[in-house]
Amino acid sequence: MSSLWPRIEPLLARVQKPARYIGCEDGAQAPRGGPGKVGWLLIYPDAYEVGLPNQGLQILYEILNERDHAFAERSYAPWPDMETLMRRRGVPLFSVDTHRAAADFDLLAFNLSAELVYTNVLNCIDLAGVPVRAERRGEEDLLVAAGGHCAFNPEPLADFVDLFVMGDGEEVVSEINSVVLEWKASGRTAGSRQAVLRRLAAVPGVYVPSMYDVAYDGPRLAAVTPRYPDVPERVEKRTISDLAAWPYPRRQLVPLTEVVHDRLNVEVFRGCTRGCRFCQAGMITRPVRERPADQVRAMVTEGLARTGHDEVALTSLSSADYSGIAGVVTDIINDPTCSGQVSVSLPSLRVDAFTVGVASEIQKVRRTGLTFAPEGGTWRMRQVINKLIREEDLYGAVDSAFSQGWQRVKLYFLTGLPTETDEDTLGIAELARNCVAVGHRYGRKVTVAASVGGFVPKPHTPFQWFGQDTVAELQRKINLLRDATRRDRGVALRWHDPKATLAEGIASRGDRRIGAVIEEVWWGGGTFQEWSEFFDLGRWEAAMAAHGLSIEWYVNRQRDEDEVLPWDHISAGLHRDFLWQDWQDALSHQGLEDCRWTPCYDCGACTGYGLEHVVASAVPPAGGSQGTGQDLSTGGAVPVELLPARVAATSAP
Ligand code: SF4
Repeated sequence: MSSLWPRIEPLLARVQKPARYIGCEDGAQAPRGGPGKVGWLLIYPDAYEVGLPNQGLQILYEILNERDHAFAERSYAPWPDMETLMRRRGVPLFSVDTHRAAADFDLLAFNLSAELVYTNVLNCIDLAGVPVRAERRGEEDLLVAAGGHCAFNPEPLADFVDLFVMGDGEEVVSEINSVVLEWKASGRTAGSRQAVLRRLAAVPGVYVPSMYDVAYDGPRLAAVTPRYPDVPERVEKRTISDLAAWPYPRRQLVPLTEVVHDRLNVEVFRGCTRGCRFCQAGMITRPVRERPADQVRAMVTEGLARTGHDEVALTSLSSADYSGIAGVVTDIINDPTCSGQVSVSLPSLRVDAFTVGVASEIQKVRRTGLTFAPEGGTWRMRQVINKLIREEDLYGAVDSAFSQGWQRVKLYFLTGLPTETDEDTLGIAELARNCVAVGHRYGRKVTVAASVGGFVPKPHTPFQWFGQDTVAELQRKINLLRDATRRDRGVALRWHDPKATLAEGIASRGDRRIGAVIEEVWWGGGTFQEWSEFFDLGRWEAAMAAHGLSIEWYVNRQRDEDEVLPWDHISAGLHRDFLWQDWQDALSHQGLEDCRWTPCYDCGACTGYGLEHVVASAVPPAGGSQGTGQDLSTGGAVPVELLPARVAATSAP
């Protein structure tokens, strides 16, 4: 295995950001390979500065490098300027750790955190020198694997990925490693690739698309069925029950250049049972598994000392729901070893937990950004989506912030939600306007940034049957909001481009036929579709038309209860009848409380796997969730401000 560095270095003077390809971060590893080890090239299929902080990738990087029979390095999608030079000079995809060529590894393993990166996945496979279509790969070709939230509908990438991993990866990577190691040791004889894929298909949590037949009934999917008796009909996700056993990453990477989320990140719990009906992340990661508070403190103290960061984020899907949150935040801020220099950010905040006390504690060192996510503009809308936040709680939280000196807060909303009326849409403007009025009480000039994203229904959620709004309808709603806020001083309206929302909708609930569309968009040069400067809806529309596929049918059509969905053979633990009932409850504005503190609804996420919620404290966190369950978590919808420079966050004129 030799380094490609002598061929890479001359290219760096000619690209926009050379630091994307250098590696050398504190925490980076230079593992030794060899015939007795399986090599994993872990790839985040987006730009380095977006991918580097990804915790999932860093966790697997460390776990694999601790194994005797594995080694792992990292790669990120080369930016188009670098890709052009690489193709011109014949430089293949390489790792940033030791600059080995992709061919020196045994697996390419992708993290799929967003659908619009799918064309980058194909581009990375091609740059690695591997046939893009799985059916054209031979014994000597690398295996292509993928995991992450988007893997829960694997079908759009089924023609290109050999194996998908469902759920938590901490344990299953070792099982996959053992199977591949044996294959490697056997000399990869003729026909053995199919045999190893069949063995992998029997590993719990692993889905191998080539082991399944797909049947259609006209435009509808009829069935996805296993080809062999030892291949499961339904692939169940993997769930680690004890987060305390996995205190990773132990050595978080410290980049040499600016990246998103440039701070220490410590995961305080996994899973969420708030039950926001639009939120795929919450649904597929149940049940709740908290990290013990002592371990959180230790990871924070050690991480800060090693990295030199002066900010720590306590991460999860809804950090204020962590049962030990108050004590942990106070301890970090008052820790003498931090000399009062460390600020804490809670990436998702519940309004009722955000009191003057919390505001005062957080801003002791420096005021980190504050984002609240009511998601819906009216109480009726928030009942439909099960985000049961009352207006007075939002105004109370904003009041706490302004009273403690904040001058800017961000609110995150979705539009295009089921049953949404113009009154609901305009409620967004009213909430933002009223928050500005709260700030004026303190005699200060304040700004309320209202970011509005177009809603994309996601698999494994109660809204998976809903017909997404058209581009024209989303644009009409945005125009309504623009008109309504045009004269509102202090309200800064931002929105996602509805065209990007449409493309995401194609990939989100697509079946295997959408693979040809993704391939055509990639082949035509459509990479980095997450980025507004490269996104082009015309490519997607042309590709859908070229393959005789209807956008209306895939994106805007409401599904029936008995329709076979492309991900029905994948299980996130949730019973289909639970999701359907929750969809019916949504249509009749019925809320559902957090099951951590109520009797179980038998959704399947615990009962199906013999698991229980693991909380650090048996007492509900401040603010409780027994009543209205006011929640301002960001849930699975990524706030615009977490995606700097990426798609389609458009500022109002
Ligand atoms: S099985 Fe019950 S307790 Fe577990 S997440 Fe589902 S509803 Fe909650």
